[in-house]
Amino acid sequence: MEQIPKSEGKCLFCGETFTKTGITRHLQTHLRQKTKENTPGQSYLVKVELNPKWGSSHYFLLLWIDSKATMKNIDRFLRNIWLECCGHLSAFTTPQSHDKVPVSRNVDNVFCKGLKLEYKYDFGSTTELLLTVVEEYPVKTDDKIVLLSRNEPLEWLCDTCKKEPATQICTVHDWDDDSLFCEKCAEKHAKKCEDFKDYAAMPVVNSPRMGVCGYEGGTIDIERDGVFTKKQS
Ligand SMILES: [Zn+2]
Ligand SMILES: [Zn+2]
Ligand SMILES: [Zn+2]
Ligand SMILES: [Zn+2]
Repeated sequence: MEQIPKSEGKCLFCGETFTKTGITRHLQTHLRQKTKENTPGQSYLVKVELNPKWGSSHYFLLLWIDSKATMKNIDRFLRNIWLECCGHLSAFTTPQSHDKVPVSRNVDNVFCKGLKLEYKYDFGSTTELLLTVVEEYPVKTDDKIVLLSRNEPLEWLCDTCKKEPATQICTVHDWDDDSLFCEKCAEKHAKKCEDFKDYAAMPVVNSPRMGVCGYEGGTIDIERDGVFTKKQS
């Protein structure tokens, strides 16, 4: 799979679409406006992505998190949208000293502008994320954790026909092999790949944990969790 799909996110407030860097900047203009409207308090704009030490990633979440949320709330949110397969362990740690951040802690005892935190889910087939606190605001959020934006379903095409959206991944093949298949080519692949037929077929989902362990998709924001829809040309 040599594809490099573009990564774009929609703004929760106005519905406009931006690139990964553009959306972060754009959301800050809305949040600055919110500081004039919302109840005084404390909140944070937080970017979540695959830990860049594993290379660049197209997956991102932009969250608006209230200071009264706990690290446990964030852990739960990340599991629900991107990670949960079989109840593996997880941990937040500081990047330099690798100190564990207790999940019982309130966000306001942990976060400050510019802070980076590493997060690991599953200590076997680990998915490693990086959280960055982009900005702080002196107001409460509308909800404990607000999903402001995420990458829209990535335009993965079938590695075989290179035309149709990929819907399945064969997890016994490396990512540089042909491993993504549309429905039709998946049927053909099942004829020559025993493993695919038995257990290695996994759905294409909108998460950096796609194809890992038993991960088959999230339980929240499901409408943006699947296969992309081909634009009519
Ligand atoms: Zn907007
Ligand atoms: Zn698992
Ligand atoms: Zn195909
Ligand atoms: Zn296969």
